[in-house]
Amino acid sequence: MNELTVNYFRKPRKKGEKKKPKTGALKKKAWKAFSEYIRTRDCLKTTGLPDYGRCITCSKIVPKTLLQAGHFIPGRHLANLFSEKGTHAQCYNCNINLKGNTLEYRRQIIKLYGEGVDTELETIAKQGKQIKPFEYEEMIKDFLNRTKELTKGGTMKAISASILEGEQK
Ligand SMILES: [Zn+2]
Repeated sequence: MNELTVNYFRKPRKKGEKKKPKTGALKKKAWKAFSEYIRTRDCLKTTGLPDYGRCITCSKIVPKTLLQAGHFIPGRHLANLFSEKGTHAQCYNCNINLKGNTLEYRRQIIKLYGEGVDTELETIAKQGKQIKPFEYEEMIKDFLNRTKELTKGGTMKAISASILEGEQK
């Protein structure tokens, strides 16, 4: 193909069209998929049920729909945003009102992963990181698949609701 034909086949860019219009939308989607994965993971881990989970910092049992994916390290730095060890299911009160409940969060990180992991996560969070659109696309697929994998045997919705309703008070 010579230069002329290459130019012929190149799609003209419209006026005012941005080069990478998709990154923001992909990031949002990736976050949604990640949050779903984290909350499902922690529900199963803390209650054995797919739709109820314990808040990592106050250990209250909350329906999955009311749980948030809360970061150990506040601020949405890209190197920390999708950290699987640094993000856990957390209730609204701990995540928002108590700004992450960080003292207790640190205790739980150490309990879960061992001494030093808390500071390791802090070091990682400070690093600069870029995520390319195709990487976001891979992350979205990956998190959705892993969530599906986790909930494969999840047929206990009705049971879990009736069992746990009492414990929430
Ligand atoms: Zn909480």
